[in-house]
Amino acid sequence: MAKINENYSKLPGNYLFSEIARRIQAYQANHPEADIIRLGIGDVTQPLVPAVIDAFHRGVTEMGHAETFRGYGPEQGYDFLIEKIIENDFKPLGVHLDMDEVFISDGAKCDTGNIQEIFSQDSIIAVTDPVYPVYVDSNVMAGRSGALGPDGRYERIVYLACTEANGLKPDLPKVPVDLIYLCFPNNPTGMTLKKDELKVWVDYARANRAVILFDAAYEAFIQEPDIPHSIYEIEGAKEVAIEFRSFSKTAGFTGTRCAYTVVPKTVMAYDSAGKAHSLNKLWLRRQTTKFNGVSYPIQVAAAAVYSPEGQAQIKAVIDYYMTNARIIREGLTQAGFKVYGGVNAPYIWLKTPDHLSSWEFFDKLLSEVQVVGTPGAGFGPSGEGYFRLTAFGSRENTERAMERIRSLKL
Ligand SMILES: *Cc1c(COP(=O)(O)O)cnc(C)c1O
Repeated sequence: MAKINENYSKLPGNYLFSEIARRIQAYQANHPEADIIRLGIGDVTQPLVPAVIDAFHRGVTEMGHAETFRGYGPEQGYDFLIEKIIENDFKPLGVHLDMDEVFISDGAKCDTGNIQEIFSQDSIIAVTDPVYPVYVDSNVMAGRSGALGPDGRYERIVYLACTEANGLKPDLPKVPVDLIYLCFPNNPTGMTLKKDELKVWVDYARANRAVILFDAAYEAFIQEPDIPHSIYEIEGAKEVAIEFRSFSKTAGFTGTRCAYTVVPKTVMAYDSAGKAHSLNKLWLRRQTTKFNGVSYPIQVAAAAVYSPEGQAQIKAVIDYYMTNARIIREGLTQAGFKVYGGVNAPYIWLKTPDHLSSWEFFDKLLSEVQVVGTPGAGFGPSGEGYFRLTAFGSRENTERAMERIRSLKL
């Protein structure tokens, strides 16, 4: 008899986005003429830039000729892309990486979801709360979570609350943990850590032989100096941190799929006898067994992101989104909201007015001004009382939504 992995039964339904869709549909059914503006979208909307498209075409054409056709590539990615990544994303930060420390993949979602496989079943994981759900759910599936409690927290997961009380920056865990997921700039709060703030985490991990899983999917949105783009800018991080990057938000690859993960050879974890093992070796083994690489034309397209034209073109797109972020941030502030993020990230995290719950505020925005965002409670218990808007909409819709929100009766 085939039996299921019962850990899957511990997962709540994918309630957040289906519930949002259900409420929009219900509203639309009663108000067929309503012009609803969606600022809840967590996906890019601008097309791939010309430099990327040209390279993509070149890669496809090469696949159609015997002399340039390519079959299976290296599972870890082609050297031409890895070289460009090291040269452009790390060298200017003073970070030296070897070619075999960078692993090209089809997404940071997959990598952040899969990385837990190389750690012990009894690892204690810590996540910030609110959180990108992949970190939690992938550990639930693997059997590390324990049961989901009535307060919305799994009994064996350590939640690092990020609320107004700590300026939405996590405090060190009060109990010992083995793996720490950090995402900065953060989705959903849009917050960042400065170098000295991130150093506290690196020092903690070094002192406790923990590993930091650092999601830097939004580093390209950083505008201010003194915000680290990579955790390896922090002294000692190459001993304790794995970093995830993605072309998804940086260069509009959400539908194209390309990302990479950095696993320095100096990052160690320990077996039950206390012997140190290089996580680079384990991740290489995992990837070469379960993954067959990103397609050649897509890696050619990703490499074009680093050409001078590519860099200028993606910067223009990021500037477009960050102007939206500024419009939202300023609009909300003028309307009297308390807002976070939106300075170094395409996400704006606002405190709901009048102690409304996240969902009450969702309903108010939808019914009174026909604007849709994402209830903070959907990202974790500490997201209750907060609400996320994103800068990925069009300029026109962003401006119209802010006009409407300013007219809202609070
Ligand atoms: C969008 C996003 C990613 C990127 O995922 P891909 O699989 O590379 O598209 C990673 N982490 C966070 C927190 C994100 O919001």
